[in-house]
Formats: sequence, structure tokens, C-alpha cells
Amino acid sequence: MALSLVARHQVQRLVASQARCYSSSMIPVKRLGVIGAGQMGLGIALVAAQKAQVDVTIVDTSEASLSKGLAFADKLLAKDVAKERITQDEADTARSRLSVGTSMEKLTEVDFVIEAVPEIPELKFSIFKELARICQPHAVLATNTSSISITKIAAATTKNPKEFWADDRVVSTHFMNPVPVQKGVEIISGLQTSQETLDRAIAFCKAMGKVASVSTDAPGFLANRILMPYINEAIICLETGVGDRDSIDSIMKNGTNVPMGPLQLADFIGLDTCLAIMKVLHNETGDSKYRPSILLGKMVDAGWLGKKTGKGFYDY
Ligand code: NAD
Repeated sequence: MALSLVARHQVQRLVASQARCYSSSMIPVKRLGVIGAGQMGLGIALVAAQKAQVDVTIVDTSEASLSKGLAFADKLLAKDVAKERITQDEADTARSRLSVGTSMEKLTEVDFVIEAVPEIPELKFSIFKELARICQPHAVLATNTSSISITKIAAATTKNPKEFWADDRVVSTHFMNPVPVQKGVEIISGLQTSQETLDRAIAFCKAMGKVASVSTDAPGFLANRILMPYINEAIICLETGVGDRDSIDSIMKNGTNVPMGPLQLADFIGLDTCLAIMKVLHNETGDSKYRPSILLGKMVDAGWLGKKTGKGFYDY
């Protein structure tokens, strides 16, 4: 069944790529695919099921991640019901919209897919190459990458074999963590992204109740270009003894009215993610102002990645 669907899509795609006249602007999103059931993927899936009211298929190579993700979704929905933000019926409906699987072939029928696997370029490139092969020719192929070039991810869809034209349907929907709480989403076009793809990404994020900002494909995009140097500078203040941990977090929390200080925020994001983004900013701009803090690198070497490993600037 899945193979015949793939074959059908290949024929449709060939026709579309030859004619280059395929119009999908009127195609609504009924089914969403999410790749990766980690903290971001699960949050995206749940908000899409609740707010955009679409069926969501979550694919993860790890059965354990899928079980953990669904248990987390149950916990979040139960909390919403307990706080009377939603009714039990609404929670049950949202939960019934979520389905899971370990094979990408489950995504052959989706209208929109959002990838949220770890920040490893080669992994994302191989996933997009596969998406170009298996997805419907109208499907938007979005990534949640924090730092990898959208242009490079889009380019991965057209290499070997060349007929898998999908680069114009690749875009970034960069959600903020935690997805059910943070309203902002950054939408980033690669060089190849069509206006139609951008418009559809903005429309879908709005349907999810998010407020979209548009950015070009530049290192760090907008959010991390601004946020990561701030976090990095806080870590440099700690390593050079300008202030201790609590003073650094306290002045920013109480002085700029943010919910947590930069060191606690780094722990929540993950210190490995912070370091990876600083390296991208530093390497791609060549500007020394983005040099990652030495202490940040050492903490990642030690495996102290923040909340997810139980130890970072704070103990969890
Ligand atoms: P995570 O480590 O919590 O989850 C990643 C999931 O992907 C895991 O469940 C893993 O099993 C799964 N996975 C790995 N390889 C896979 C494959 N080949 N196919 C399917 N699933 C696979 O990661 P996360 O924090 O959710 O981050 C995901 C993406 O979102 C990254 O690109 C990250 O940079 C970005 N992001 C993270 C944050 C944040 O604060 N954590 C914020 C914005 C964007």
C-alpha cells in the first residue's frame, strides 16, 4: 500500500517538476507530519492537534521517545483540564488526533511536515532527501532547525536523484521552547523557498495560534542571533568572575522583567544546543564577537548539558 502511494507521488512529482506549474495555494493542511518526538517535536504536534485541529503523525526512530512523548502529551493535556483551560472532551479530541510510528513512510499522505530531530546537519539533509521522495508534491517541508542554513537543507532535496524537485517547498518554522507556552515563531526562507511556501507556512503557524516573524536565511536567523550572544556573554561574565551565577541571573531576571536569567535559560535550552549555535555564528560570520565561551565548551565536554542531563549551571 505504502509503496504504491510512493509510486503515485513520484509520477505526480515528475509531472509537476516538468511543467513547473503545480499550484497548491488552495490546499488546506488536514494532516501534519512531525519528525522527532523530543521536547520540540512533541510540543509542535500537540499544539497543532489542539489549535489547528489537524491530524498529526509523529515519527521517531526511537520507540522510547515516542512513548515518553505521548506520556508527556497526556500530562500536559491533564494539566490543561485541571486548570480549566480546556474541557476533558477537548483534551480527548486533541489526543485522538495524535498517532505515532517509526517509519518515514507514514508521512506519504501529509500536507505539511515539520522536522524536529537533533541539530546534526547530515541527519537533517538525509531526512529532507527522503521527504522529497516520499511526500505528496504539494506538501510543505519545514524544519525546526535552530541554526542550520535553510538553503543547504533545501539543496539536499534535489541531489541524487535530480527529479525529486522539492527545494522550493522547504522552509523553516522555528518554534520557541516550550512550544505550548511561547507564542513566537520565526519563519525563514531559503534562497529556493517559493513565496507560496512561505505564505502557507505563515498561515499554518497562525492556525496554531502563533505570532510569526519572518527572517532571511542568515546565521542564527533573528531569535538566536540576538539571544545566543546574550547567553554567551552571561557565561563569559561567570568565567571571568564579573559576577557569580545568582547575581548574573538575578540582575537580568529582576532588572529586565524576563521569567528567568540567562544561565538558567541556557540550562533549559541545553548547553550543547547553545554551543552549536555559537559555533555556527562564529564560523559563518568569521566575527570574533561570536566566539563561544570557553566555560561553555568545557561544560559540554563534561556532559553537563543542563536540565536534560540533570546538571548545568544548576542541579536538577
Ligand atoms: P530532542 O533531542 O529533545 O529530540 C530529538 C528527537 O529526534 C529524539 O526523540 C530522537 O529520538 C529523534 N530522532 C533522532 N534521529 C531521528 C531520525 N532519524 N528520525 C526520526 N527521529 C529521530 O531535540 P529538541 O530539543 O526537540 O530539538 C529538535 C530540533 O529543534 C533541533 O533542530 C533543535 O536545534 C531545534 N530547537 C530546539 C529548541 C530547544 O530549546 N530545545 C528550540 C528551538 C529549536
